This record gives sequence, C-alpha cells and structure tokens, in this order.
Amino acid sequence: MTMNVSEIFGSNVFSESVMRERLPKKVFAEVMDVMRNGGQLSMASADVVANEMKDWAVEKGATHYTHWFQPLNGVTAEKHDSFLTRPVEGKTLLQLSGKQLIMGEPDASSFPTGGLRATHYARGYTAWDITSPAFVKEQAAGVILCIPTVFISYTGEALDQKTPLLRSMEAINHEALRIVRLFGDTRAKQVVPAVGPEQEYFLVDKQKYLKRRDLIYTGRTLFGAPAPKGQELEDQYYGSIRERVGSYMKDLNEQLWKMGITATTQHNEVAPAQHEMAPIYTTANIAVDNNQLAMETMKRVATQHGLVCLLHEKPYAGVNGSGKHNNWSINTDTGENLLDPGDEPGKNLRFLLVLACMMKAIDVHADLLRESAANVGNDRRLGADEAPPAIISMFLGDQLEDVVEQIVKSGAADVSKKGGTLDTGVSILPVLNKDATDRNRTSPFAFTGNKFEFRMVGSSDSIAAANTTLNAVVAEAFSEAADALEGAEDFETAARQLIARLMKEHQRIIFNGNGYSAEWAKEAERRGLPNLKAMVDTIPALTTEKSVRLFERFHIYTQAELESRAEIKYETYAKTINIEAQTMIHMAGKHYVPVGVSYTGQLARAVAEIEAVGADASVQRELLAECSARLKETKEALKKLMADVDRVNKMTDVVAMAHAFRNEIVPDMAALRAPVDAMELIVDKKEWPVPTYGDLMFEV
Ligand code: ADP
Ligand code: MG
Repeated sequence: MTMNVSEIFGSNVFSESVMRERLPKKVFAEVMDVMRNGGQLSMASADVVANEMKDWAVEKGATHYTHWFQPLNGVTAEKHDSFLTRPVEGKTLLQLSGKQLIMGEPDASSFPTGGLRATHYARGYTAWDITSPAFVKEQAAGVILCIPTVFISYTGEALDQKTPLLRSMEAINHEALRIVRLFGDTRAKQVVPAVGPEQEYFLVDKQKYLKRRDLIYTGRTLFGAPAPKGQELEDQYYGSIRERVGSYMKDLNEQLWKMGITATTQHNEVAPAQHEMAPIYTTANIAVDNNQLAMETMKRVATQHGLVCLLHEKPYAGVNGSGKHNNWSINTDTGENLLDPGDEPGKNLRFLLVLACMMKAIDVHADLLRESAANVGNDRRLGADEAPPAIISMFLGDQLEDVVEQIVKSGAADVSKKGGTLDTGVSILPVLNKDATDRNRTSPFAFTGNKFEFRMVGSSDSIAAANTTLNAVVAEAFSEAADALEGAEDFETAARQLIARLMKEHQRIIFNGNGYSAEWAKEAERRGLPNLKAMVDTIPALTTEKSVRLFERFHIYTQAELESRAEIKYETYAKTINIEAQTMIHMAGKHYVPVGVSYTGQLARAVAEIEAVGADASVQRELLAECSARLKETKEALKKLMADVDRVNKMTDVVAMAHAFRNEIVPDMAALRAPVDAMELIVDKKEWPVPTYGDLMFEV
C-alpha cells in the first residue's frame, strides 16, 4: 500500500490552517494574536474554539479529550474525559466548553512535587498552551483529542517541564530582541529558539523481552555476558534496514506524520538493533511536545509489530547507548538565524557577539547544562566509556576556532578560513562543497554550521530541561551584553571590545580535540572546568546562588521550584536504583543461583559417573570447580547487596540516601553482575534461564 504523505501529513492536528478554515474570522484573528503576542483569549472565543475543536475531533472519531501534560516523572500524563454530557430528555450531547479547553484540574496528588504542595494544598491545574497545537491520537483505547497544557499548583508554582520552558522562551525572546535592535533591526518582533532533536532507540523482540525481568522493570539489562559479536565491525551503522524494522519505521512515520511530526531521517545506529529518528526542527516548545509524543508513539507502534522499543540510555553494557542530539538555534520572526555565521564570520559582528555570549553562557553555567542532561540512565553513558564525556566543552570547528583565536590575539579576525571544495578524484562525480566546519562526534556541545548540537541529553529524557537551561543561560549573557552596549557612544568599537573580552575570558570552554581521551579530562581539570561524573553530583548545581540568581531574574524558576526539582531528582535517583537492585536480587535468587545449583549438580553427577567407569573426568571437574566458584561469588554478592539495600532503604535523608545508592549499591550491583555473567559463559545455553545478549540484539 502506498501512502500519500501530503494528504496524511498533519491530518490529525488542529493546526493553524484547520483553524483558519473552521473558525469565524474574528475568533481566528484573536487566537493568532494571543499565539503571537501573548495575553488571554476571551471566554466567548474560547467557547467557539472549543466547540470547533470538539467537532473536528469527533469527525476524526474521537470520543474523549485529555489535557496532555509533562509532570516531573518524565512521562506524559493524560486523564481522559468523555465529551458526553448528562442526558437531557434521553438525549446526550457531545460537548467541550471554553472553560474545559482552557483549564483542567487533574487529580494531581500522585505526581511528584518535591514538597511544593502540602497535601492540604493538593490542587494542581492544567492550563492550555495555545502555542502548541491540539491533536488527535489514535490508540487502542480509542481516538483521543489531546490538548497540550502546562501543569501548575494552586499557588502558581510549576509542577511540570513545560511551564519553565515557556518562561525561558519569553526570557530569550526579550533579551535577543535587545541584541538584534543594537544592530539596527527594527523589523523583528520576536526571537524564538528552534529545536530539532535526533532520537536514538533500540528495538527488541517482544517475546524475548518478556523473558527478561530486568528489561520489563528497568528498561535495561542488568545481567548479560557480551555476545560474540558486538559493534566492532561497524557493519550496522547505516546498514540496510531489516524487513521487520523497516515495516515498523514505515508505520511509525505514518503515525508521526499524521500528528504533524516531521520524521524525516531514519537509519541504523552504531550498535546492533539501534536506530535513530530525526524530525525537522521547529519552535522549542512544539519540539518538546513532539518529542514526547514521538517517544510514546515509538513504543506503541513497536508493540503492534511484536517489538518493544527501548528508550533507556544504556539497554546493553558493552555497546553504544542512546542519546538525543538536541539541535538548537535562535531565529527571528523575519527569518534570520542568529547563529548563521555567513561567508565571513570574522567580519559578521552580530554573529561574533552572539558567539561570544554563547561562550560565556556555556562556560559560566557548564554545571547547570550538565545537570539539565542528567538522569539515572545517562549515568551509564556520560562519564563512562562513551559519548559524550561528562565535561562540558564547546566545539567550534577549524574556521570558528581560528576566528576566536585571531580575536583573542589581536582583537579582530581579518580572514576567515574557507570550506573549499572536496575533489573525489573521479571525474564523473560532482565536486562537493565542503562545510567549513568538520564534525566532532566527541563534543557534548558542537557547532554544526548554523546551530549548536547539545548531545548530552538522554534518550528517554524530556528535552524540556535542557532547552530551558540553554535559553536561560544565553538570555542572561545577551542581557549583560545589551546592558553594556545599549548606551555606547561608539557602538562598533564597544562591541568589538566586548567580543574580544568575552572570548578571552571564556576561551577555556572551547575544545576541538578528542573528548574521550584521558588527556582531555586532565586538561579540563587544569582549565578549571567541572567534571560531574554522576547524576547525584550534578543536582547541587540547581540550587547554587548563581543558579537561583539566573532563574529568578527571568522568572523561570523560583528558589522553591529549584529546591523541589532537586529533591525530586534525588528521590528519583534513589527509587530507580532501588528498583534495579531489587530486580537483580529477584533475578539472581530466582534464575541464576538455581541454574548454577542445577548445573553444578549435573557436572558433579557426570564426574561421579565417568570416574566410576575409570574414565578421565578432568574437564568436567574443571568446569565444576569454575562454575562452583562463580556460584559462590554470586551468592556472596547477592547477600551483600540484599543487606546493603535493606540498610540504605532505612535512611531518612533523601540526599544521603541517593548518595548511598550511588556509592554503595551501584558497586554492589556490579559485583553481583560479574560472576553471573562469567557463569553464563560456562553453563549450557539450553539451561540458561533468560535470552542472552546475542538473542536480544541479533534476533530482531
Ligand atoms: P546534522 O547532520 O548536522 O546532524 P541533520 O540535517 O541531520 O544535521 O539535522 C539534525 C537535526 O537538526 C534535525 O532535527 C534538523 O531539523 C535539526 N536542525 C537543522 N537545522 C537546524 C537549525 N537551524 N536549528 C535547529 N535545529 C536544526
Ligand atoms: Mg546530528
């Protein structure tokens, strides 16, 4: 069956064009005005919009609507309400009022609040985010109209990811407009951050998945000896896509396209059974919503294909994990990208000022940026043996690094290195124009042409926090630059001086070398750059004086909101590691120790039988000794893990508890895993109680 992309694209979105078609002119104009300039929709208009939205959704088969929001537990929440009203004279009507559209009150006491709401103030409200379009979602439970909302407490504190993001977008809009005005731009009315997240994921066969308690409970394997083949041949990357996976991707695209998500590229990733999906970039808050929806859809469509989509940052030890490359740029409503260097970046004063501000922002707030990408799963990527390192640095590429160096040395950059052409040496092939910047896959924050690519974010995480932080730190640097330059007598000289000063002061954040090397860790330490290896080490960054000053100044987070987020993060960390530890205890006790016992029994009987007839049983004896030794280590490690988990769970201080999970339980878990994985290599495959790495990664 072929599909007509232009026909289905966005067909499930209550988009601007749908509104233009369906709403009375006056109401449509009012909606557009609120979308662009903020403010409130009148109740009368909200009623009209709600009714049209409902009719449109009902035509699509919808029976329910939901206020769709992103609480602080990382998943999207929805509570379905039916359009049905109380029957009058035996007839019921389908209804959605303006009030229902604009505001909801979910029973919110079960979402994490980090102490923000005492239970007697347990009210939480959802409020419509008019700038993110409503859509219908087709799922097993029926067709649902989803209304993107923010989630706030009775006292106005943000209980979600979206509210701070929207606040940060207002901050960067305001401060970036001051920058463009300095350069005489009077036309731009709005500056918005645009985001395009590349999403990595793994697929696994559902039947095999169901045999692995660790995948079911924690999303990653807690045990597993490496398969004979990993990713060393690099034959998977961009390899041809297998039929089953291909048909999954086709379906996924169709579902995403319907909801207006521009999934464009799809390819295999480095690890076996790992893939990537990238949409075309769009306004930050819509990109965040779309990414949440994409993750949800990826999981749902997978089950329809007998697959499970693993979004965990590190489902398998020993092969690459998954991240999200958060591509970010800042654009005026007149179509200019402030990160576009043009042909002569060295002479593009506005670009240089923006770049200098970015250097300052990233350097001063490296800790916050690192924190914004910290989640439990990401601890297995960042600061471990793979991309990217836990140290924040910026990659600019040859051309821009050269420009920065010239400016730092002499105050100006007179010549800009050019990209040039790439001659393939084959006359029938076209001559390719080379980018002036090469790629650096080891950098956590890389300039790629006209955008920065923040590559630290975890694959399962919302990209909201990362973008909120990015917007905030850049807004601050813009604001300080604007303060310095707005009154300047000789603007150009003042700007050049400021650029040179900022670049000099913050040059240490630039690093173009290999981010994985041990030398870089040493060099970064010498430069004084933070190296926050684990999630628990990053959380204090949220509540430093520097952070509170930044976020309060732009009304993005209050101190209380920051403290609550820190608490939620500690809590989440402790809870997640506890679940992992409990799962290991279960699997070791129920699967691995029993298999070790029965296999050593088989070997012992074999030894006895063989020796009874006077034959040589030395191989069986050797295997028996090895297996028994691993079994003993397993049992001892299991006992220690159980005792430590018990003790740590009795701790009452959440910060101390999180640290104990990290410093004691995580090493205990590694100590339990090692002998089990070693035993897996000895025990007969037929006896092994769960699918192996080879089964999981190569039989998709
Ligand atoms: P690359 O090959 O440099 O990673 P891609 O074309 O694969 O670039 O794009 C990666 C992601 O970056 C996509 O989601 C794309 O839409 C997004 N992107 C491209 N240009 C921009 C931009 N100016 N601002 C934000 N995101 C962008
Ligand atoms: Mg990329």
